[in-house]
Amino acid sequence: MTGSAFGFVGEINERGLFDTMAISNPGWDACKMPGSKAAKSIINMALRGIWAGVLKRGESMMVHDPSSHTDSAGVPEGHPPITGFLGAPLKEGGRTFGMIALANKKTHYTTSDRKAVEDLSISFVETLMRHRAESRLRRYRKAVESSRELIAVVDRKYRYQLVNHAFLAQWKSKRELIIGRSVEEVLGREVFEHTVRSHLDACFKGEDVSFEMQREYPEMGVRDLEVNYFPIRDDGGVTQIVAVMRDVTEQKLLEARLRQSQKMEAVGRLAGGVAHDFNSLLTSIIGFSDVVKMKMGRDNPLCEYMEEIRKARDKAAALTRQLLAFSRKETVQPRVVDLNFRITDALKMLERLIGDDVRMVTRLDPDLWKVKIDPGQVDQMVMNLVVNAGDAMPTGGTLTLETANKDLATFFIDREAEQRPKRYVILVVSDTGMGMDEETLSHIFEPFFTTKGIGKGTGLGLSTVYGVVKQNNGFIRPVSEEGKGTTFNIYLPAVEEEKLIVNS
Ligand code: ADP
Ligand code: MG
Repeated sequence: MTGSAFGFVGEINERGLFDTMAISNPGWDACKMPGSKAAKSIINMALRGIWAGVLKRGESMMVHDPSSHTDSAGVPEGHPPITGFLGAPLKEGGRTFGMIALANKKTHYTTSDRKAVEDLSISFVETLMRHRAESRLRRYRKAVESSRELIAVVDRKYRYQLVNHAFLAQWKSKRELIIGRSVEEVLGREVFEHTVRSHLDACFKGEDVSFEMQREYPEMGVRDLEVNYFPIRDDGGVTQIVAVMRDVTEQKLLEARLRQSQKMEAVGRLAGGVAHDFNSLLTSIIGFSDVVKMKMGRDNPLCEYMEEIRKARDKAAALTRQLLAFSRKETVQPRVVDLNFRITDALKMLERLIGDDVRMVTRLDPDLWKVKIDPGQVDQMVMNLVVNAGDAMPTGGTLTLETANKDLATFFIDREAEQRPKRYVILVVSDTGMGMDEETLSHIFEPFFTTKGIGKGTGLGLSTVYGVVKQNNGFIRPVSEEGKGTTFNIYLPAVEEEKLIVNS
């Protein structure tokens, strides 16, 4: 542009030295200073000599005879002599941060050369700043893109300038369909006017804003969101808003379930406490009604009523026993148990847990092997399965409790087969109820999984059963089809004969 032999551009670094960003090839090649073999893109120079005057004064300089100039510090050894110099500062917001330097034009530099270099420095600064802003953004883009939170940048006209991957995924949308559109268009007029706009405006006034809202998304439906708006300030005030949103739907659900299960835990304890007190009252009811009956004599006409009282109090006794078993918090105490006995014993109480329309059938193998398990756990397991079966048959049906021996000696063929017990006792609880689809079936053992309404299901029934079965080295196989009922097969290892003898 000016016909200069040499030229360089650079800026002052944080250590106060001059970093050359670019230097002309002829200029570089002509420099034969010791140590100048280093990469030419990063040469640190102390701020001295004529050229440094541009940086100090923040003004362009044109010098015809540099060696006689007052600023001259000479040139380093090996550096070609400087016959003419033209320099212009790089300025941003009034601050000089670097310069463009030219040297050794064949003739004198002119004022139009000076003007050209001053203009060049202005457009150079603009380009440099834009480039740096973009690369800064690129650097953050990775973080923004990979964030699981929904992030959007909105301008003063409520238009989306930037959205991240999570945002697009939630909206099932594409970047080009969102960028440039207004928040009102994307969220709908109703949501924009009633919930979003006032928050955005507050943020444009410079406040950090956070609030919770519900928003409907395609496919995902209504979701709970935690929203945060942060203002981005420029010299002229807030120019943009960064919106960071977190989908807290699942978290809220979990919290609700946790609350529900804590409530159930409390109810369980309460029931246990009441059952305990009730049991003592029952003892006196039983004792005194026995006395009355004895004193009445067999042919007393009131005997019939006394008999009804006896039945009722037996039921009450069975019920409290089960309640106590259920709410018991003691550590497990496995014993050799006859499952048939536990089931028969609990039958009356179990019948009461299910509707009148449900017929209860038992098929218990009289030669059933014994199992080693905490009897309380058996009761709880059977009770949970029976309650579920009852729930699945709101308009009646048949509930079957079955026990059988099962020799699985040839069943396992994997590597650990040798170590596994061979003989199992199988407990089958089946109903003719509504059944389950595959999706439901794949989740039933998860704690808190329930398809029953709030206040009805805890989702802890089957996870407890699963825990008990696993703890006792058994396994559980559910079989179900929608509309065709459900069967739970529970396998518990049978106690080996020899151990049984030692135990008893
Ligand atoms: P809850 O009974 O509190 O819902 P459970 O862990 O006992 O929790 O059961 C989890 C879910 O499994 C139930 O909500 C229901 O959808 C399903 N389920 C369990 N047993 C049956 C059954 N016998 N028939 C149909 N669905 C069942
Ligand atoms: Mg249940």
